[in-house]
Amino acid sequence: MKPTISIISPVYNEEAVLPELYRRVSKVMEEIGEPWELVLVNDGSRDNSAQVIAELHAQDARVKGVSFSRNFGFQVAATAGLEHAQGDAVILTDADLQDPPEVYPKMVAKWREGYDVVYGVRESREGETWFKLVTAKAFYRLIQRITTINIPLDTGDFRLVDRRVVDAILRMPERNRFLRGMVPWVGYKQIGVTYERAARFAGDAKFTSIGKMLPFAVDAITGFSYFPLQLATYLGFVIAAISGLAILFVVTLRLFGSGDPLMGQATTLVAVLFLGGVQLISLGIIGEYLGRIYDEVKGRPLYLVDEKWGYEER
Ligand code: UDP
Ligand code: MG
Repeated sequence: MKPTISIISPVYNEEAVLPELYRRVSKVMEEIGEPWELVLVNDGSRDNSAQVIAELHAQDARVKGVSFSRNFGFQVAATAGLEHAQGDAVILTDADLQDPPEVYPKMVAKWREGYDVVYGVRESREGETWFKLVTAKAFYRLIQRITTINIPLDTGDFRLVDRRVVDAILRMPERNRFLRGMVPWVGYKQIGVTYERAARFAGDAKFTSIGKMLPFAVDAITGFSYFPLQLATYLGFVIAAISGLAILFVVTLRLFGSGDPLMGQATTLVAVLFLGGVQLISLGIIGEYLGRIYDEVKGRPLYLVDEKWGYEER
């Protein structure tokens, strides 16, 4: 039977979590009483996650799995989940139970009311470092300012999306994917439901270091804003204006001042170095966009599948 609701979850080294995820999801879904499926996308885990998925599928055919050939990252794994989901509504969740399945009934109720996207708004976040809280807050405020799309605040990837939103997202072929921006970009009727974000059930969080979070932030910004590129133009105008005034000032001193008013060496050096720095930063920003254009042009597949459970061979 075709499921009405698909729950999809990227999985990276979550062997300790998956049986509990299945237990909680199936309990909640039985209460909702609609046909459902749980699609687990194994993103190149190095532990036994693949085996656990295979076992869960053997136990209950409503659990389906896709296993990647290697780690392709959360955004790609979530996209693969959207591609494989068959439901009329799809709920994207983390595997670690930080997004409690007990919120699904609230989301499904809003969907039944006619909303196309129901996203989870975190009311509180347990078990997160203050560093992550502060950087996340700053990041969302920044992206709100420099993009035209309206990314809701304090919102992660946990959300229910209607079939037509899923299909729209699957028509967006970009390689640098930022789902938290792509879903609002699609439009339609969107609404949030608040929930308490729980602590991770077991295992370790993967997005903790600045090295993991920064590329994510840069992808988000370059994917949805030209502001960094325009920054060079703005800076150029500001620096040109200041230099223009400085030229007037120097010429006036030369013509009407007495003696040698400006001993130039250090000033010249500092000015040149400063501009050199600004130019290098501008080049770097162009490079960020250029590299992404190169990624798009190469047109490589988003991911490669190693194994599937619950999908007929084509
Ligand atoms: N994840 C993934 N690929 C990765 C890293 C993480 O599929 O390369 C999955 C992970 O298994 C989990 C979700 O993404 O289901 C969120 O990861 P995590 O809980 O570590 O992130 P956090 O909650 O700290 O943002
Ligand atoms: Mg987590």
